Amino acid sequence: MNFLSLIPCHRRPDRTIHIKGKPMPLCARCTAIYASYILLPLFYFAPKNLFTLGLSIFLQLPMLIDGLTQRWGLRESNNVLRVITGILSGIGQCLFIWFMSYMIIQILK
Ligand SMILES: [Zn+2]
Repeated sequence: MNFLSLIPCHRRPDRTIHIKGKPMPLCARCTAIYASYILLPLFYFAPKNLFTLGLSIFLQLPMLIDGLTQRWGLRESNNVLRVITGILSGIGQCLFIWFMSYMIIQILK
């Protein structure tokens, strides 16, 4: 079993990046989100304050707007936008993980 099959993703071919004619195992947005997790260790040096928490939430907005306006039939996104908003979301998730990890450590001290 391919471990990527465990990741929830619609895997629609039209929303997936193709390399040399072969589709990636995840859609463009999920690929960008998970790829940005590689940056997670870099956020060790990010300030742990409410601005960081707010920024982590703010970075989810482009993906939400892109996804929801598409879902509501207002417009059609494209894979470039999905990758950009996915990277921003992934960076925001990294910031959120670091912030929450820091807060949990502070509480347990
Ligand atoms: Zn996906």
